[in-house]
Amino acid sequence: MNKIYLDNAATTPLDPEVITTMLEVMKNTYGNPSAVHAIGRQARVVVEEARKKVASFIHAAPAEVFFTSGGTEANNMVLRSAVKDLGVNHIITSPIEHHAVIDTAELIHQQNNVLLSLVKLDGSGSVDLVHLEEILATHTDKKTLVSLMHANNEIGNLLPLKKVAQLCKKYGVYFHSDTVQTMGHYTFDVRDLDIDFLTCSAHKFHGPKGVGFLFVNQNVQLKPIITGGAQERNMRAGTENIYGIVGLAKAMEIAYQHLDEHQKYIQELKTYLIEKLEQNIAGISFNGNPKGDSLYTVLNVLFPNSEMDEMLLFNFDIEGVCVSGGSACSSGSNTGSHVLRAINADMNKPSIRFSFSKYNTKEELDYTMNLIKNWFTGSSKN
Ligand code: PLP
Repeated sequence: MNKIYLDNAATTPLDPEVITTMLEVMKNTYGNPSAVHAIGRQARVVVEEARKKVASFIHAAPAEVFFTSGGTEANNMVLRSAVKDLGVNHIITSPIEHHAVIDTAELIHQQNNVLLSLVKLDGSGSVDLVHLEEILATHTDKKTLVSLMHANNEIGNLLPLKKVAQLCKKYGVYFHSDTVQTMGHYTFDVRDLDIDFLTCSAHKFHGPKGVGFLFVNQNVQLKPIITGGAQERNMRAGTENIYGIVGLAKAMEIAYQHLDEHQKYIQELKTYLIEKLEQNIAGISFNGNPKGDSLYTVLNVLFPNSEMDEMLLFNFDIEGVCVSGGSACSSGSNTGSHVLRAINADMNKPSIRFSFSKYNTKEELDYTMNLIKNWFTGSSKN
């Protein structure tokens, strides 16, 4: 049976055009970009062309883009380097950040003399900007890094990036946004945003896994976390993942070429599922703020209790529908979801995250809805 893949916030399938581009490089470009001979130089050109392309999509200079093994590494680099190299002694973040940020911030707090402040969330799980400003105003004696994700990977809430960037400027603090769920899905202009750090992961927009980048504003000087080579202009040692880097650049190119069309199409899918669920399932509700400022690829549904409850996720899987409970990165059930806990979601009811891509169809959602109707109402008519 063909699977219905509705777990695109966890990862997306590769775009065939990305595969073609990567295969081309795999076949023809085997040099080490650090080697000075012709074969090495050829590989260097491939990496630098990719860097230029990636930088242009976010209006950055190529020298501000550092390739990494993905979002986790890029987030680690920001938090650890901010403390190590910029003298940051206060991190402000939120309780619903991805583990790559929140766990790293906790560790830094425990191991170094770094104050950790968690900003409050409102009832729907959005960051309370008044509280953020209160924290900033209280700690003007500290050197602060604000790290707040652009979109939450479990519930989809969007941060008003520009507003937060302006607030950070007002208080003269560093601002990092984990844009792993939004890069390739929204446009970014780092000059207009005036932001210090952004992080990206290619596999969230039909690029390869294990590659991403960190944007570091040219006004900020960091030193490497991973040492042992001069790659990435001395910022990240290790032979470049050239196939991944090329795949990342190609995936970004495709994403930005078709951005409006994909946004509209995927938003329609999300709205369609919301409507069908509300029309057909009594007692259904949503975690987060899906009809407000919300990532169009994510819908987190709080199902009413039924005889299957904890088995709901398993039942989707048996029926060939791939979804996730809470965060797929810590895959399985929602019991471990620090996000759902932090927003006071009803943990006695099953929460399921549906996340969409350009490859999903209304027919797939109809099939999924039919299953849900069958389980919750005993009827499977459309
Ligand atoms: N940040 C967010 C918001 C994510 O959703 C993820 C992946 O799920 C990451 C960071 C980690 O990215 P990567 O899988 O590239 O390490």
